[in-house]
This record gives sequence, structure tokens and C-alpha cells, in this order.
Amino acid sequence: MSDQVLPVARSVTALRGAIRGWRAQGLRVGLVPTMGALHEGHLSLVRMAKERCERVIASLFVNPRQFAPHEDFERYPRDEAGDSALLAGAGCDLLYAPERSVMYPDGFATNVIVSDVSTPLEGEFRPHFFGGVATVVAKLLLQALPDVAVFGEKDYQQLLVIKRMARDLDVPVEIAGCPTVREHDGLAMSSRNAYLSADQRRIAARLNHLMHDAIKAAHAGGAIGVIEAETQRHLHAAGFTSIDYFAIRDAETLAPVSDLARPARILAAAWLGKTRLIDNMAV
Ligand code: AMP
Repeated sequence: MSDQVLPVARSVTALRGAIRGWRAQGLRVGLVPTMGALHEGHLSLVRMAKERCERVIASLFVNPRQFAPHEDFERYPRDEAGDSALLAGAGCDLLYAPERSVMYPDGFATNVIVSDVSTPLEGEFRPHFFGGVATVVAKLLLQALPDVAVFGEKDYQQLLVIKRMARDLDVPVEIAGCPTVREHDGLAMSSRNAYLSADQRRIAARLNHLMHDAIKAAHAGGAIGVIEAETQRHLHAAGFTSIDYFAIRDAETLAPVSDLARPARILAAAWLGKTRLIDNMAV
């Protein structure tokens, strides 16, 4: 523990020591995994965890295993002191900020692969991604063994992957999802929004607006495939440089759908220059 506003644990031993003390008092413990550069979206997860548990830990670890070599690991925004102050203000009790060598000591050789729900969409465009996420989240859950771990619906497919991993591996932790927090113009908050120029930031809001339009069109009985294709054209016209996917899928399996008979989710990933934005909503 240091003398920061928020106590910080940097080793598994320190983390478990703090949790042992809370458990001895009969307190429930919540965990909020993050990669830092925190915003209101992250803080909403902390508040949800705090509603359900007397003590809340936020982890801060920019996980190298979920970035491909050509991605933004090096330039990913980092501000531990700022994050620590925000977390303290949101009611967090402990920051867990392990070094890379704590998470991946020499000789680390395990990779947690969740098939099925990892395969489409993000899995197609970032094939390394969910293996990295499932591995680091499995470690965080086992290190802390919280009662509840809270994740954002902002990363909807990631939430499905983590739920499946925890269920399949009998990890005794409840996985809770928290609604997406947005800017006033609808843009989903993201640490990566900091990369956007003023022009790109204006265009970025169109992604969510076009998702709303697509949802309306789907409810009006439009053909799903046509809505997906037309929206991709609108995104290009709005200034998005390229579109990885814009899809209406089954909300549970992410399989393609031809109607709205079952709960559906609209999911998108699109580029503005070198910045990749993702968003999703219930249809
Ligand atoms: P990250 O630091 O981007 O890995 O995100 C850490 C957690 O915060 C994940 O569970 C994300 O889904 C969640 N999160 C990120 N942005 C938002 C947002 N705008 N609203 C709600 N949760 C979010």
C-alpha cells in the first residue's frame, strides 16, 4: 500500500491481503477491471459495484496480450494518478495496478480461448483480442475472487465472452453488465476518443445516430441485410474511413438474424483515420 489518496496494491499478495481483511469482517467485494484512462463509463461500473458490495477494487492494467503488434498498445493513454483520484471520488476502496511481470511472469504459457461467441465480429477483425481478454480477466478473477465483477455493455461481445468463460470454468464470481455511458451527442465514452481530432469527433457522433436510424428501420419491417448495407453506405458518406462491421445479430449468440423474433443487438466497429470506434445497442 502507498500513501496515495486511494490505497494501491501492486502484487497478488498485497491484493489478497486487503481482501482477506475485508472478508474477515464479512464484507462483500466487487471488482472492476479497466485499462485506465478512466472516464464516466468506468466510474459508472465502480458505482454499480459499490451498490452491490461494501468494498470495491478497480484494476488498472494495459494488457499487452489483447493488442496485436500493429495496434495502439504503446500510445494507449496512461494516467495512474488521475485515475486514482477519479476512482477515490467514485467510492472505490483499492486500486490494483500490477506490473506486467506480475501478470505475465517469465515462462507464462497459458492462453484462455473461448470459442463460439468469440468468433464473429470483433473476433474476425481482431483475432488475437478475445484470447488476450479472456486470459487476463480469468487471472484477475482468480487473483481477487470477488463476489461480483462488473463490465460495460459498451464492449458487448466482450461481456458475452467473459460470461461464457466464467461459466465454463466454474469461476465462482457473478459477472454483471452495466449500460453504456455516452457523451451528450450520443458518442459512447471511450479512452480512445482522446485520439480524435475536432473534425473526427464531430463525425464520430454519427455512428450512434445511424444505429438509432437502423433500429427504427428494423422495427418498421425493413430487411435486415438491406439496413446493414445502407447504413454502411451512410457511414462512409459521413466520413468514416472504413467500416469493419455494422450488423444486427442475435443478442445472445451473435448469430445473423433475418427478423426481430428474438432479442437482437446492433453492433458496429468503424474507423476514423487511425482510431477504431465500437458501439452497440439493444434493437
Ligand atoms: P477499458 O478500460 O476500455 O478496457 O474498459 C474497462 C471496462 O469499462 C470494460 O468493462 C468496458 O466495457 C467498460 N466501459 C468502457 N467504456 C464504457 C462506457 N462508455 N460505458 C460503460 N462502460 C464502459
